[in-house]
Amino acid sequence: MRLESDEKHKLLTTLPSVDELLKSSAGNSWLLSFPRLTVLQAIRDTIAEKRKALFDGLFPDLSPEILIGEIEERIRKFNSYSLLPVINATGIVLHTNLGRAVLSEKTIKNIVSAGSGYSNLEYDIETGKRGKRHTHTERLLKQITGAEDALIVNNNAAAVFLCLNTLAKGREVIVSRGELVEIGGSFRMPDVMDASSAVLREVGATNKTHLYDYENAINENTGLILKVHQSNYKITGFTGDVKIEELVGFGKKHGIPVMYDVGSGCLLDLKPFGIYTEPTVQEIVKSGVDILSFSGDKLLGGPQGGVIAGRQKYMEYIRKNPLARALRIDKLTIAAFEATLMEYIDLENAKEDIPVMKMLLQTPEEIRLRAGKIAAALRRRIKNASFSVIKDTSMAGGGSLPETEFPTFAVSVKPGRISVNELESRLRNSMPPVIARIKDRLLLLDARTVRKQDIPGIVSAVDYSINLP
Ligand SMILES: *Cc1c(COP(=O)(O)O)cnc(C)c1O
Repeated sequence: MRLESDEKHKLLTTLPSVDELLKSSAGNSWLLSFPRLTVLQAIRDTIAEKRKALFDGLFPDLSPEILIGEIEERIRKFNSYSLLPVINATGIVLHTNLGRAVLSEKTIKNIVSAGSGYSNLEYDIETGKRGKRHTHTERLLKQITGAEDALIVNNNAAAVFLCLNTLAKGREVIVSRGELVEIGGSFRMPDVMDASSAVLREVGATNKTHLYDYENAINENTGLILKVHQSNYKITGFTGDVKIEELVGFGKKHGIPVMYDVGSGCLLDLKPFGIYTEPTVQEIVKSGVDILSFSGDKLLGGPQGGVIAGRQKYMEYIRKNPLARALRIDKLTIAAFEATLMEYIDLENAKEDIPVMKMLLQTPEEIRLRAGKIAAALRRRIKNASFSVIKDTSMAGGGSLPETEFPTFAVSVKPGRISVNELESRLRNSMPPVIARIKDRLLLLDARTVRKQDIPGIVSAVDYSINLP
């Protein structure tokens, strides 16, 4: 049944005006607590929504209580941030959708200090002359990686783009077909290549590429040889690629620069922890590669950024590319990088102070103890659900260490009255939002990524979700 037009008209006249709502007692109290613009926008949007519903022939509830309630809900939303802290109970340490790396305490402090006043961002204090923003991170990067020179841009996608555009614009870049990766949808090696005006020259097969494949592809228009780390997948079985050391020798012989997109940018040797698939940045620099690039917010555990490091000769060209300015990082990122890199001067210290490393390298026993604490806190407060600690595995995430499964412990929640899917959704929508995972019809709170300070938030979110009226 649809509303007749005279009925519609009658209902429309009962809809209060913006002015009436502003002058009502509710309106007065809103204006006392919130900015006028916020209140006005909330009233206008609410009225517009009701009018639209009327014109669509629906029967919107136009009672004052409903209107006031909806306006208040809008004011509350307008007045809170959209980017919110969430509790990551997925166990995925580098969760790209949840912001990748959690920063170290010293890093946070340095961001606050750079942001809350003036700084010598591009100012040479000794001479009183103009300085360069990249000097603040250059020395540390060179010292830690062993590279001749280094530069940071917005992210690793930007780093790869800038290198290709500088070193191979209008020229061919040889890449193995086994390394034409896609990372998270929007970064596809062939598309980045196109955008940078370099010409992709694919060689080899998906599972095997030999040195002679590179050899056969070389011509007078070859600008660069590119190797790409297979960050987020693994080809197994009858496989083979050309090692970076071989490519470096080959590039030298032909006078063609060799670049390695390392992806994760791990600065700590993970072999003592049983992880053999991730080369360190230092090892790759030692191979003699001309240019390498990696992310700041993957295994390095810092802010979003893309580090380009390598031979001075090429780094000079890259710095002078006008696009370098378009891709440059801001002072907060520089502050974050400087503090994060400083932690790596002492590698033992980095294991403890860089949250990404700490979360990945925790012993299963430490995780089990924390899962026990979470379960105990939940049991103390919530009596109509059951909680048990179970053994499971978690992944690194963020396109890092795809084939490494990390033993972990999680709290399994069995809600009495609602389904596991309903609980998962309610947890997401509680405050703070708690992001859990479902496995084999169990709702799991993986203790690997839950910090001690998150436990009260988890308890109240689970309580709220299970006992929602
Ligand atoms: C993650 C990744 C990128 C993209 O890095 P962002 O910092 O996310 O832009 C590029 N190449 C490889 C091999 C990667 O693993």
